[in-house]
Amino acid sequence: SQKRVAFIGLGTMGREMARNLLKAGYAVVGHDVNAEAVSELGAEGLQPAASPAEAARGADIAITMLPDTPHVEAVIEGPDGLASAPPAGRLIVDMSTISPVAVRRLHAGLKEQGVAFVDAPVSGGPVGAKNAALSIMAGGDREAFLAAEPYFRAMGTTITHVGGTGAGQTVKLCNQLICGINLQAVCEALALGRAAGVDLEQLRKVLLGGSAASWMLDRLGPAMIGGDASAGFRIDLMLKDLRLVLEQAQALTVPLPGTALVTSQYMEAKAHGEGSNGNQALFRVYDRMTNR
Ligand code: NAD
Repeated sequence: SQKRVAFIGLGTMGREMARNLLKAGYAVVGHDVNAEAVSELGAEGLQPAASPAEAARGADIAITMLPDTPHVEAVIEGPDGLASAPPAGRLIVDMSTISPVAVRRLHAGLKEQGVAFVDAPVSGGPVGAKNAALSIMAGGDREAFLAAEPYFRAMGTTITHVGGTGAGQTVKLCNQLICGINLQAVCEALALGRAAGVDLEQLRKVLLGGSAASWMLDRLGPAMIGGDASAGFRIDLMLKDLRLVLEQAQALTVPLPGTALVTSQYMEAKAHGEGSNGNQALFRVYDRMTNR
């Protein structure tokens, strides 16, 4: 019989992931505090729900894709949340990037109720989400991971059980610190090349053919060079991720000087009103430093 998915959070990433679950033949019941985000997918077969609890009724699995830790806590533990009315399949998977400490707390609370919880953050951006090509890094009990795996297959291509509860978030935070520092490196190369009068589009193409090639240079380079700041992946969300990286690093006494520096630059971008812009707007920090 057709499996049923409750999907909470139909934003930049969630809407594409829900679409791919629909395309793979799952019944999807969706909820988002933004009613438009839900109605947009109605024509594609998504059934609307007024609350997380309503979405989860009769579902085999509930999946959340929300901005930050407090939103996930509200959707699980708040009024009309998933903990008060768990899906029939007793499996909740959070695919947002949130605090690993919060993940372990949520997991323990749900476990007492006989509900399994998997943290499964993703990498690949809106394009990866649209193409069902996400890298999915999952933490949790093996049995719960195996139960969630067929749903992951509809949304991603690289699907890995990286360890126990919270390990998915730790791996994602490692991913994010590389993204941040790498984007900073791309900014610095473009700032230098620009000041020296080099053609930046050609610079980018040449570098992509050699050992400096990177996802950031490839995917965000054109928007940086073209001055297109539209999101994608918002500066605000990256600042949240870098904060989570530094919190975990502090708890474990791991100095991360590169991450600390690039976090300050992201903060500079936010202070200049760029929080809602895409990550490529980090280059504007360099515009200001070089008076461009
Ligand atoms: P988004 O802000 O575009 O989408 C989040 C959605 O959640 C919005 O539609 C919002 O209305 C909804 N929402 C917020 N609070 C809610 C609540 N209490 N109940 C129901 N719905 C609620 O964010 P996004 O870019 O889709 O990112 C989602 C998560 O995935 C974040 O943790 C982000 O860090 C992570 N992520 C994003 C990207 C990216 O490129 N955008 C890539 C990988 C991971």
